[in-house]
Amino acid sequence: MEEYKDKLYKILAQVEKPARYCGGEWNTPDMSKPRKADMCFCFPELYEIGMSNLGVQILYDVINSDKDFAAERCFAPAEDFARKLKEENLPLLSLETKKPLKDFTVLGFSIGFELLYTNVLYMLDLAEIPFYAADRGEEYPILLAGGPCAVNPEPFADFFDIIVCGEGEEADLNILRIIAESRAEGVSKSEILKRVKSVEGAYVPSLHKDGEKVTKAVLRDFENAPYPEKPLVPNIEAVHDRATLELYRGCASGCRFCQAGFWYRPIRERSAERCAELGKKMVESAGFGEMSLCSLSTGDYTELEKLEDILIPYCEQKRVNLALPSLRISSFKSDMAKHSRKSSLTFAPEAGTQRLRNVINKNVTDAELDNLAEAFEIGYDSIKLYFMLGLPTETDDDIAGIAEICKRLKGLYYLKRHKRGLNISVSCAVFIPKPCTPFQWEEQISMEEMLRKQNYLRGLLREIKGVSFSWHGAETSVLEAALARGDRRQSRVIERAYELGAKFDAWTEQFKWDAWTQAFADCGLTMGEYTRRREADEALPWDFIDNGVSKAYLLKERELGYMEATTKNCREGCNGCGALKLGRCTVC
Ligand code: SF4
Repeated sequence: MEEYKDKLYKILAQVEKPARYCGGEWNTPDMSKPRKADMCFCFPELYEIGMSNLGVQILYDVINSDKDFAAERCFAPAEDFARKLKEENLPLLSLETKKPLKDFTVLGFSIGFELLYTNVLYMLDLAEIPFYAADRGEEYPILLAGGPCAVNPEPFADFFDIIVCGEGEEADLNILRIIAESRAEGVSKSEILKRVKSVEGAYVPSLHKDGEKVTKAVLRDFENAPYPEKPLVPNIEAVHDRATLELYRGCASGCRFCQAGFWYRPIRERSAERCAELGKKMVESAGFGEMSLCSLSTGDYTELEKLEDILIPYCEQKRVNLALPSLRISSFKSDMAKHSRKSSLTFAPEAGTQRLRNVINKNVTDAELDNLAEAFEIGYDSIKLYFMLGLPTETDDDIAGIAEICKRLKGLYYLKRHKRGLNISVSCAVFIPKPCTPFQWEEQISMEEMLRKQNYLRGLLREIKGVSFSWHGAETSVLEAALARGDRRQSRVIERAYELGAKFDAWTEQFKWDAWTQAFADCGLTMGEYTRRREADEALPWDFIDNGVSKAYLLKERELGYMEATTKNCREGCNGCGALKLGRCTVC
């Protein structure tokens, strides 16, 4: 590896932000221990983004805490660095020991977003590893994928040997153990994959037979699960430079468009004592100036007040900011906001009218929006509001309701502060029907309709002073929807898009719509085939994954949505979604 290091150090002096490629972060575990097997976590985005990913931090910690295994990291390099690698004939290396990716036992890709698919190929290309599992012989590492996109792994299934559907804490270790033992016995890769199939959550695309089910991996003892008490401290500023404390998994709200809310069921909470203990250890080991309480709906955490009672004095004494992202309006409490030194509040009503919020089961009422007056009273002057356009049954009246909410908040601010000056920033995404949600069968509105709706809203908001408007690109929304509900035929589309220059698709300035449309066409497909409405009895590419939540429940929820009827929060009692068969829900 010394020869690689010399070349690497030469390159570092010639690229932007060389700290992205150096490794050696504070809290890096000992890499000199003997290894029965090793895994390089590959994150298909830049260092600054990857270092903010909690999933990677957790799994990195889990594997490095095992006496037999070691985990290293590699992030997608920026293009200047990639060019230099090619010029120097240098393969992609891990951050820790500067080992070529192709020499690891396992490469574990974390895929959290559909627009990262081409970056997987970009990294494999730089690592000098063939894209397709079928083209990789015994000399190559075993390629594993996991992360939120494993809800529907079919678009990238041909690239991987193993895909972990669900949570990786136990599954990754079990898989690594099987691989290490099998390699020691000298058995072939195909025999190893046969053995790996028995691990909960392990999907082996090459060995999968029609009609077989893969049960999602669930971490059942969430309270005592390992957690990175000594997180890595990024070499350069990361997107989230803070101690991130995961309070619970899953979500009790049941918003009908939300994939994470259904996928991460059953709902499992950590006790306030354990959360506080972990938070303090992270701050003390890494010196972070901010602690973030993180979950899908932090304000709903059962022991939030108890946790605040412990952490607020601690954070004040340590001069650490306690940040509270993803609050729900219905759970907003001004004393929570008081202790968060944020300049702006963030809320997500998602839809502009009560009617449409009932359709999507976003249990926020107009009266609850009035709660925000308390925040204005204690000094907040700006608010970010998140909405979605193109939701099922949406009309222009619902869109006009977004402008009405802005006017209402302006009025509340004036009442409390006796002055104008509230800044509102409205951000609108486009609805994407995602697998494993009650709306997984819905169509996505056409691109023309997206643009019309965006223009209509922009016109309405322009008439209100102090409101800024931003929206997600129509083209990226269509592509995301097409890939989210994709099938095996899309592996070739992704490869073709990469050949045509697509990579870093999540970056607006890099996004190449033409490459993607051509890639679909070259493969004899259209995005429209994937964004269309699906019939309730139609076979769906992800049907083989047993997520606990039954199809019957999702269909019932969709019908309730059409009837504009809401479903109660799981904290008020179990709604019978089916997830209990995979583990205990700690909220019901
Ligand atoms: S419906 Fe019941 S099993 Fe499903 S997430 Fe809610 S409480 Fe848990």
